[in-house]
Amino acid sequence: MRWLLDLRWIFRMEVKIDQIVDGWINYVKSKRPKMLSEEMKAVSDNRMSICNDCDSLKYIERKLGTRTISKYACGECGCSFPMMTFAKKKKCPLGKW
Ligand code: SF4
Repeated sequence: MRWLLDLRWIFRMEVKIDQIVDGWINYVKSKRPKMLSEEMKAVSDNRMSICNDCDSLKYIERKLGTRTISKYACGECGCSFPMMTFAKKKKCPLGKW
């Protein structure tokens, strides 16, 4: 039965990896002039303002060897902020966007 759970986890991760890659690509595009569509920018800006007012947005610090890595992430799904707001198919786990 454990292998079945592993398959479900792998499937979910593949779906999530699509969104992670899409979010990061669009995030990098947003840093370059005119590379990100105005529509995606507007969607992302709206999502970011909602996340910024959400109690589930967390500041996370992790030790990696001698280094400390910090980032903002959604406390519900674990996705990195603001990259997740740039993923077209991403949905807020609480249904806020
Ligand atoms: S994705 Fe949803 S639950 Fe997560 S921080 Fe943004 S608004 Fe909150």
